[in-house]
Amino acid sequence: MVLKEIQHIFYKALDAIYGRDEVNSFFFLATEHYLNFPRFQLTLQPEFTLSKAEIAVFFKLLEDLKQQIPIQYILGETEFYGLTFKVNENVLIPRPETEELVDLIIKEHAISSVKKPLRILDIGTGSGCIAISLAKNLPNAQVYALDISKDALKIAKQNAILNAVNITFIEADILEVTTVLNLVNNELSETDFLFDIIVSNPPYVRQLEKKEIQPNVLENEPHLALFVTDLNPLIFYKAITNFAINNLKQKSKLYFEINQYLGEDTKQLLVQANFKDIELLKDLNGNDRVLKALKD
Ligand code: GLN
Repeated sequence: MVLKEIQHIFYKALDAIYGRDEVNSFFFLATEHYLNFPRFQLTLQPEFTLSKAEIAVFFKLLEDLKQQIPIQYILGETEFYGLTFKVNENVLIPRPETEELVDLIIKEHAISSVKKPLRILDIGTGSGCIAISLAKNLPNAQVYALDISKDALKIAKQNAILNAVNITFIEADILEVTTVLNLVNNELSETDFLFDIIVSNPPYVRQLEKKEIQPNVLENEPHLALFVTDLNPLIFYKAITNFAINNLKQKSKLYFEINQYLGEDTKQLLVQANFKDIELLKDLNGNDRVLKALKD
């Protein structure tokens, strides 16, 4: 069987679910991943003959895509901020909005990080995408990454190795920790434990927003990383803001990815906690998505 025949089978089975453009993009990703084809080669070699084993792999992929399993979980990896990350059902698939958050932090600290080491904490690291892309792009960064999920940390640790960065991973529930000392088991000396940057993309989708979430997200991505209750949707932002009051250096910044419908409410938390220069920023879709603030 040749490649273009398989491609047509994919179109026939998947166009109705995803649309032609997305099916094409799946097919490119798959030929890249399974056959090591650079993107243009698919168009150059439509007559490429696949082995029996390769055909089997493509048909398995087709079945999984029919079930609407995200392609990133099927292939076991994705790209974020130009880096490759392993992903599985225990971690969220990194989103483009989060790339914007990372880009903002890198731009704001590119110069200061050359002059002195920056101690950074990422709370709720998941795949490690924020922590690792910051470590990779900010010289001298000392990055700590926390998550409640052992399974997520397993993936994040693999991603740190894959991307050749050194990160201190901490298994903890941010709702239970107040000081970094109990967080990192006295690993840091008391005078030395404050952070230069705290960043978090915590769970923020309310139950009432479930109907807006795509079925492939709802059925496959970890609910632990996505959802909060309708009654206390800012629970993580409250805990992290309190944590930042005690553990962020003066004149240092706190960054949040936020629920687009709760921009003003989340901002008010920071106003009340006396943070300064608070800015609510929109993502590429024009939704309120990032909050940044300076600890006075
Ligand atoms: N942006 C993600 C989504 O819409 C949610 C991420 C989160 O809850 N932190 O699926």
